Amino acid sequence: MQSFDPHLILRDELSELKAYSPTAGEYEVRLDANEAPALLGSAARQRLAEVSQAVLFERYPDAGQKELRQAIATRLGVGPDQVLCGVGSDEIITLLMTVATRLRGRSPAPSIVTTTPTFVMYRLSARIRGQRVVEVPLDGDWDLAEASMLRAIEMAAPNLVFIASPNNPTGTMVSRERLETVLSAAKDALVVVDEAYIDYSSRQQLDLIESYENVAILRTLSKIGFASLRVGWIVGQPNLIAELDKARLPYNLPTVCQRLATVVVSELGSEIEAIRAAVLGERGRLRAELSSIPGLELPPSEANFLWIGLPKPAEQVFTALAERGVLVRSFHGRGGRLDRFVRVTIGTGPENDRFLQALRETL
Ligand SMILES: *Cc1c(COP(=O)(O)O)cnc(C)c1O
Repeated sequence: MQSFDPHLILRDELSELKAYSPTAGEYEVRLDANEAPALLGSAARQRLAEVSQAVLFERYPDAGQKELRQAIATRLGVGPDQVLCGVGSDEIITLLMTVATRLRGRSPAPSIVTTTPTFVMYRLSARIRGQRVVEVPLDGDWDLAEASMLRAIEMAAPNLVFIASPNNPTGTMVSRERLETVLSAAKDALVVVDEAYIDYSSRQQLDLIESYENVAILRTLSKIGFASLRVGWIVGQPNLIAELDKARLPYNLPTVCQRLATVVVSELGSEIEAIRAAVLGERGRLRAELSSIPGLELPPSEANFLWIGLPKPAEQVFTALAERGVLVRSFHGRGGRLDRFVRVTIGTGPENDRFLQALRETL
């Protein structure tokens, strides 16, 4: 057979990356991916089944995502020309990085600025396109380190600035004042505020689009009960959305996903509210239980998970929990203060109890 080494043609950055893979294996309690607990009622399931059944399987999806964009726009009180949907917000992140590639400042590659720790897709997506990534560490309270952020923006001259608020994995929101300072300073960049967890937070940031043309908001159905649909979207000014739309694959969102997401957004508000209320209730309860365990640190959570500082190395706790059938997310090996924190998704009451019991045995 004639041999061929794919590395001959592939970009160098691939060698520094690993494929994204959720932890494999069977666990009775999975609290590692920030999905919502499975609480969807039977009437809602029935409605979704009906809609799936009416899909024209022979036809391509609506390339313009018209119905879904309209439903989202109506729900948010913006124009449909301010919304663009992707296969999860992940696709929107990659789309932004595909088109925002100006060489600016002194860097030989286009740059993005983000924080650390934060959602790994920003870095992954940028590196795979050969972009430079400047990661600014969050401060002691896991909030934006304003001065360092402003310096990074000045030095790197990024096309894009990514800020998750509420942030993953810390669960904290960026303070409004610091966010606005960054928006004002990054005049020549698009600042993307990722609101994947906004339904679990105590305040909104969407109104920023009324005051800053250089802001865009990312949202998703993934963390509020519909991760299977892979539907996320960006809200921004119409001339940005129109340009992004040129680079989007025309049939990116399957018909089933568009139709079901439309139903979720326009009809299942009370279902989402019920999921939200259940998660917030459990989050409060779990937090109260955890605060009676000595040695834990519990930053405030504005998301559907807790970021828990441990009196022991995260790796040990992660492994001991896994041995008891409870999977959480650990970032050990990343060094520094991350080596003592785990991220735990809020599950159902019984799942959270299993976690609590396993943690007590472990510490
Ligand atoms: C989970 C997550 C997403 C992923 O969203 P998808 O819509 O599932 O692609 C985006 N941003 C943050 C901060 C997340 O934690």
